[in-house]
This record gives sequence, structure tokens and C-alpha cells, in this order.
Amino acid sequence: MMLTQAPRGTRDVAPADSYRWQYLEDRMRKAAAAAGYREIRTPVFEHTELFLRGVGDTTDIVQKEMYTFKDKGDRSITLKPEGTAGAVRAFLEHNLYADALPCKMYYLNAPIFRYEAPQSGRLREHHQFGLECFGAPDATTDAELILLAYRLLSSLGVSNLSVNINSIGCPKCRPLYHQKLKTFLAGKVDSLCADCRNRFERNPLRVLDCKVPSCQEQVKDAPSMLDCLCEECAAHFEKLQQCLTLAGIPFRVNSRIVRGLDYYTKTVFELITTTEQGNLTVCGGGRYDNLVEQLGGDPLPAVGFGMGLERVLMLLDGEGIEIPRPRLCDVFVTYMGDHWTEAFSLVETLRAAGVSADMDHMGRSLKAQFKYANKIGAALTATIGDEEAAAGAAKMKNMETREERLVPFAEAAKAVREMTEAK
Ligand code: ATP
Ligand code: MG
Repeated sequence: MMLTQAPRGTRDVAPADSYRWQYLEDRMRKAAAAAGYREIRTPVFEHTELFLRGVGDTTDIVQKEMYTFKDKGDRSITLKPEGTAGAVRAFLEHNLYADALPCKMYYLNAPIFRYEAPQSGRLREHHQFGLECFGAPDATTDAELILLAYRLLSSLGVSNLSVNINSIGCPKCRPLYHQKLKTFLAGKVDSLCADCRNRFERNPLRVLDCKVPSCQEQVKDAPSMLDCLCEECAAHFEKLQQCLTLAGIPFRVNSRIVRGLDYYTKTVFELITTTEQGNLTVCGGGRYDNLVEQLGGDPLPAVGFGMGLERVLMLLDGEGIEIPRPRLCDVFVTYMGDHWTEAFSLVETLRAAGVSADMDHMGRSLKAQFKYANKIGAALTATIGDEEAAAGAAKMKNMETREERLVPFAEAAKAVREMTEAK
């Protein structure tokens, strides 16, 4: 093990790159707020039991991917493998169902941990932007979420987005489909992967979701859940499609979408893009009308989605989309001789006035100070030599336009604003 190597499947965000994350976060916050969602923050770890009950013990996540450990008090703890269960737990713990419904919340940049085989777009720690809406049974909510994700991603510049929707029914109609699917798969079990042979017994729906190509081949002609929906689920799915059509976004009914979590009912959806390495799901979600009750609350419908930030960034990179890089430094104060005292005070004054300002901390020569200012992309320099110091002023220079002004210290912040605005 290398001390200077992050654990496999994790990634740092370097100071020079964090603006890209902040840009995404800003856009996501605005998109969520525009639809009436407010932020929730829940702990990075929860009691393991929450995920066993919430996510479902036949899922890949619970069977293979959770970071579970005993804490020093001998409690079983798990690092969040997804965002919804924690949100539901908090919703119940704080009696949010007693407030006006629907209760709309989002989480941003939530670290999610899954023990997966690391590869492109697949990390052991990734981050999600997720929305959850509690209390609303209507398909307009499902549509609202799909539209929000779609519009957000397209406005960021992601092209090639394919909106895939499906309905996996409810406990009333799904058992019939399970039966049909099992009958269909019965003769093919031997050709399925080891995981799917297991899924066949415990949760046949999940076979449809398997990423192994030979399994995908086997389920090509599988019966569709959509032919088995009860009246209520069928009407719900119909209304969802009506909403999306009304909004004018392209979508595809794809009966292969079943999602990897047990809690879904009715609507499931994925936003998929095609990249050079193949299809990439950037956002997945659906309705989970029974989860609140399953976790101990009164029955309450809900719907949500999760979007992987790393995957969004990967797509933006892949498409060559530039994220605006904010300026690191408005003004770099350079000084001659021992005028560091004036320089130090000026930097302080400028920072207090909300201007990003810096100075040399390395004992550099004046020439080297200018070189450094240039290197960090400072918009202006403010130079203090004997003459300037005597006049209580600094000579400000716009690095790009070469415009120069002698500016009294007291007017420095105002001058910086004027001289940087002009560009
Ligand atoms: P996949 O089918 O790719 O394994 P999933 O169905 O397990 O995805 P979800 O549980 O729906 O994924 O998570 C929501 C989103 O989080 C995904 O659409 C994806 O953008 C992102 N995501 C999931 N797992 C990872 C991972 N291991 N690394 C990076 N991003 C991930
Ligand atoms: Mg997965």
C-alpha cells in the first residue's frame, strides 16, 4: 500500500478542478429550487438495517456492494450506498409528513459508497444529486422529475440524451408478471450468468437489468411488464407519457428498464447517453410508493431520482464542453523594497471589500512577482514603490488592456471593480 495513493475507486478533486464541481452544484441547486425542492443533508453512514430493509436484500447493492462495518459500540454501520433510504429515514424521524405535502427535497454532492469493480464511470465513492418528492401519487410528479433531469442535462450541453421510461407495476400486478417471466426464463436458466441464476429464484425482474451481454441476449424476447399492468398502474403510466408529450421532450418506452433497487413501484426511468465506450446511464429513478411504509411510516407515495456527478462531468468532458473558469485573483499587489507593509495592508483592505487580492509570500523580486501574477491569471496588478507609497497610492495595471491608473489606497476596491468590469 502506498501512503500517497488514494484507495482504489476513489478520486480527489484538485483545487484547480473544483470550479467544475461548483459550477454543476450551482446549476443543480437552481434547477431544484425552480421546482420547489429544498436541500436535505443526511449522514454519510446509517444503521445497516435501514438499507437491508430499504434497498432490498436481493439487490446487487446489498448483496455485494455495501461498505458495512461494526463500530466500536458493536453496531452495524453502512456507508450510504444510495440516497433515498436516508432521506426517507429523515423524513420519518422529523415527522415531515405532518407538514404541507408534497414534501420536496434534494441532496447535492452526497457521497455514495459501493464496492464495485472500478472502471470508467464506475467508482467506489461517487457523488449524487438526487431529488425526492413525498406524498404525491400523481404522474405529474414523475414527469416533473424526469423533465427536471432532462432539462438540466441538456442545458449543461449533454447531447444524445435518451429518456427511457417503464412501469414495473405494483404488488397487485407484478406477481402475475413475475410468474410469466419465470416461465419464460425457466428453459434458459443454464445459459444465464451465476448472478442471474440466483436472481431467477429470488427476483426474476432483475435478470432484465443484467449487464452481461449473454444474459441480455437471453431476455431479448422476454414478456413485457407493460402487458400485465393493473388498471391503476396502466392509467398512471399513460398519464406520465401524456405529460412528457405535452412538455415536448423525446422519450422511449423501454421495458428492459427495471432498476437495481427493490423499492420501486410503477414508474422507473433512466436517462442514458451513448459515449465512445458504450451506453452510460447518467440518471436513474422512479416511484417508490411502498418504501415509506416499509420503513415504518404510514403508507405514503413518493418518487425520486439520483444523478451521478462524476458521470455528468465525464459526459461534458467527452463532448468537449468548457465550463467557465472563474478568476483566481482580481488583483495581485506587487511591491518594491520593504513596502511589504503597505502591500500587506492593501491586500487586507481589498479582501475586506470583497475583492480577491493576493501578494507575494515567497520573497520574490519585483520581476518575479509580475511573472507570478501573470501565471495565476490575475486581472490587475497594483504596484507599490517609493513614489506610490509616498502618495498613499498604488499603480494599478490591467494585465490585458495595459490600462494604468494611480489609485489612492482608499479607492482601491472601487478602482479594481471599474478596471476589471471594463473588459
Ligand atoms: P449502473 O447500472 O450503472 O450500475 P445503478 O443503477 O447502480 O447504475 P443508481 O443506483 O441508479 O445506479 O445510481 C444513480 C446514478 O448514480 C447512476 O445513474 C450513475 O450516474 C451514478 N452511479 C451509480 N453507481 C456509480 C458508480 N459506481 N460510480 C459512479 N457513478 C455511479
Ligand atoms: Mg450499479
